[in-house]
Amino acid sequence: MPQSIQDIRNIGIVAHIDAGKTTTTERILYYTGTSHRMGNVDEGTTITDFDEEEATRGITIYSAAITCHWLDKTINIIDTPGHVDFTAEVERSLRVLDGAVVVFSAVEGVEAQSETVWRQADKYKVPRLCFINKMDRIGANFERVFSQISERLGANPLALQIPVGAGPSQNEGAFSGLVDLIEMQFLTFDSDSKGENIVRSEIPEEYREKAGKWHQKLLDTVALYDDELLELLIEESAVSTDMIRKVIRKATLAGEIQPTFCGCALDYVGVQPVLDAVVHFLPSPLDRPPIEGIHPNPKKNSTQIRKPEIAEPFCGLVFKIVADQHADLNYFRIYSGKVKSGTRLLNPRTGKKELLNQIWRVQADSREKVEGASVGDIVGVVGPKEVATGDTLCDPHQPIALESIVFPETVISVAVEPDSSADRQKLEHTLTRLARQDPTLSVKVSEETGQTILSGMGELHLQVVRHRIEKDFNLKIRVHKPRVSYRESVTTRTEAEATFHHKVGEELQFAKVRLAIEPFEGEESVTVVSHLKPADLPEAFHMALKANVKMSAQGGGLVGYPMIKVKLSILDVDYRSGETTEVALQAAAAEAMEKMFQTAEIVLLEPIMKVEVVTPEDFLGNIQSDLNVRRALIVNTMKHGDLTIVEVEAPLSKMFGYSTQIRSLSQGRASFSMEPLKYAPAPPEVLKDMLG
Ligand code: GDP
Ligand code: MG
Repeated sequence: MPQSIQDIRNIGIVAHIDAGKTTTTERILYYTGTSHRMGNVDEGTTITDFDEEEATRGITIYSAAITCHWLDKTINIIDTPGHVDFTAEVERSLRVLDGAVVVFSAVEGVEAQSETVWRQADKYKVPRLCFINKMDRIGANFERVFSQISERLGANPLALQIPVGAGPSQNEGAFSGLVDLIEMQFLTFDSDSKGENIVRSEIPEEYREKAGKWHQKLLDTVALYDDELLELLIEESAVSTDMIRKVIRKATLAGEIQPTFCGCALDYVGVQPVLDAVVHFLPSPLDRPPIEGIHPNPKKNSTQIRKPEIAEPFCGLVFKIVADQHADLNYFRIYSGKVKSGTRLLNPRTGKKELLNQIWRVQADSREKVEGASVGDIVGVVGPKEVATGDTLCDPHQPIALESIVFPETVISVAVEPDSSADRQKLEHTLTRLARQDPTLSVKVSEETGQTILSGMGELHLQVVRHRIEKDFNLKIRVHKPRVSYRESVTTRTEAEATFHHKVGEELQFAKVRLAIEPFEGEESVTVVSHLKPADLPEAFHMALKANVKMSAQGGGLVGYPMIKVKLSILDVDYRSGETTEVALQAAAAEAMEKMFQTAEIVLLEPIMKVEVVTPEDFLGNIQSDLNVRRALIVNTMKHGDLTIVEVEAPLSKMFGYSTQIRSLSQGRASFSMEPLKYAPAPPEVLKDMLG
């Protein structure tokens, strides 16, 4: 149990796939005594990859939160996914982290995914440490990766260690240990004890000069952030290592520097110093700024602030939902106040109160039920029924809606059917649950065909979902060919007006609505504004009309794809008391929308993917000419040792089945990653074809 808030560290370990995140996490769980066996990714026995799907694919898809203890502190590790199809999950995890450890490979260096994650961490102002892993490999180069971190990421890494015996030249010998640049000691990790026994000794003769230079650089940097320390250095007085650490902490929390470490997680070298650094340099929940939200009642659209204190009204955010055989486990980050099991909390999105039946502290392969939880905690809760990822749960008397996470648009969809029609309902139920857990997945029934359509972030994403339906939920399904999820937008402004004047039952109903649509890049994909004055329309009708106009644009434009990058304006409404009903308003609005779609300049948008291909030189020619055929735009080409990295932007429609193709083009030697980047106008003939 956490003693006090200062003693909690909520951290994430983030990395490009294969940099060694899972291995590092496993080592951490072992040294902290959370797990008694040392897992190995290559044997499929690791703990954070506890989902079989992940273990067999060797990637971490569904992030789990795990609690462990180090130096009397409680560390909650929120495992973040490494695969680029799952950027949204990384972003979501970053929302609830206080600090992060970013793992780099000493050979591959800063890769595309590390860049993406770094930017997201900047966005959420998450203080970071860097761990340059795989120092044992041939071609490992600490200094090169170190300068890439500052150049490619625009970061300010501060080396707190340098490797001994690893480097670009052969004569430096095998990687044997680290120099601790604060204590100025040589650290080796005894492999018989799986690195548990650390031997501290004098810095080897031939490394003294180099270590001295890096030590001086460390002092010079640190002095920039503290006047007292600067003065001591100028006076050439002794500076205690505690004082150096204190200043490093201050600068790290402010996001000014990123303490940087190195090691080899696989061979048990350098993991505990990173754990020490998590405790010493990364923030506790108290060190983070208060969280902001809004009052859910639109009449009081005022900003609400919650400080990270027990005395504050309770609020927290559901950042992940994991389906269990019996009940959903909702992973929940508490930002303020405290809560006991058995309490009812408000979900401001639905306006409903949800019962917290049970509160669990989750430890990878085991969990412990607790009576209560408070600010800074990350726990799993059971009980809430109508809760989706990204929802706030708060004190019903002091409501607050935390800024909900914006999820990217889905880019690909498939139609799915149960093998046996008796399973139709079960499939529907399963899909609803999966979509609740994973907000980047959407489920919809097609109006034309009655088919169930699943949409997601990429082919791999949908394959993973399919696998879960079949394995976790034991449902046999048929999956049709994947299709691109297009979007529609407009290029010019258009207005339209429609009148509804009909008998509905016995009564005559009336409404007249005038709308406009125009291109617009707002925070949301569809922005709705109203030019009506309060006297024009009763408030309840007004709200309903706005929501209806928005839903109708999201539901589809001229050819039925959701509209994005548009603004809809409600220009005028003719309201007759007694005759105007919500139904009449809706019908008039729908007709006005239809007219606009017919007259507006519609543009069809297609998803463009960011693709990174890593290939040995020999296959580069093959791969590039194939990419050209796929309308790919080459953005960047880089060399990393024997490998070439090609970054391209390509329409998803041309990238189906790319994993098979790239294998055959490179005899299985090249790899790639792909994530949605943006929507851009599709070639005009695509829309023409659709219109027939
Ligand atoms: P993740 O994709 O970032 O989670 O990376 P993993 O931890 O799954 O590691 C990817 C591969 O790199 C696995 O085959 C690991 O055994 C290997 N690996 C991890 N750390 C090291 C290391 O320090 N040195 C070497 N040589 N290999 C490592
Ligand atoms: Mg992994």
